[in-house]
Amino acid sequence: MQEDIARLIELQKYDLEILRLERAMAEIPQSLQKAKKDSEILAEKLGILQKSLEEKEKQKRLFEEELQEEQKRLKQTQARLTQIRGSREYQVLLKELEETKKTIKQKEDEILKMMEEIEALQKEKERIEKELEETQKIFEEEKQRFEEYCRALEEEKKRFEEKRMQIASRISTQILKKYELIAKKKGGIGIAGVKAGICEGCYMAIPPQLYNELQKDNRYYECPHCKRLIYFKDKYQPEEKEQTPEKA
Ligand SMILES: [Zn+2]
Repeated sequence: MQEDIARLIELQKYDLEILRLERAMAEIPQSLQKAKKDSEILAEKLGILQKSLEEKEKQKRLFEEELQEEQKRLKQTQARLTQIRGSREYQVLLKELEETKKTIKQKEDEILKMMEEIEALQKEKERIEKELEETQKIFEEEKQRFEEYCRALEEEKKRFEEKRMQIASRISTQILKKYELIAKKKGGIGIAGVKAGICEGCYMAIPPQLYNELQKDNRYYECPHCKRLIYFKDKYQPEEKEQTPEKA
């Protein structure tokens, strides 16, 4: 039994815990993602609504100006009518007066319609603003919850890192370096057990001769397939025997 192998096995256990915690912290919860997305959609809707509201109001102001112009024209025509003698010119002016009145009525109707549209848009805007406010509240709550969760995981991670450091300081530098290099390349697993001739790092069979050698356990071995450090599992972890299913 090589002590460094036993320590590396323990180190591997802590490294996997650390990795698990890091992954959990990197995974943004769906509820938080959803709240964020919802807020973004609502904010965009609100932006579009605000723009069309501004557009409508601008249009309405323009119409109001035009209405004022028409009303001015009406007054002028009316004033001229009182001064007119010739009936031909009078008729022309009278016709003009009718036209202006018609235009004024049209403009007034259009302005009224616009006012209704603006009111509807305003209401919709208020509704979305309220909805956005609620969604943002949910987002903040979810964010806070996730941050708290991450803080707890961070604490847990620190504890594992301490244990890791303690055990790492007792492993020969060379083999530790080798393990770390492999772990970095191989998804966090630098050392793997071999059970029944199968490397549990890559689940491939190792050559029988190597398997025999491995059981003697007098040097470091690596898997010819995945290049991880390997050890004879029955020797180091005999407690992890396959469970025999109970017979009914
Ligand atoms: Zn392997």
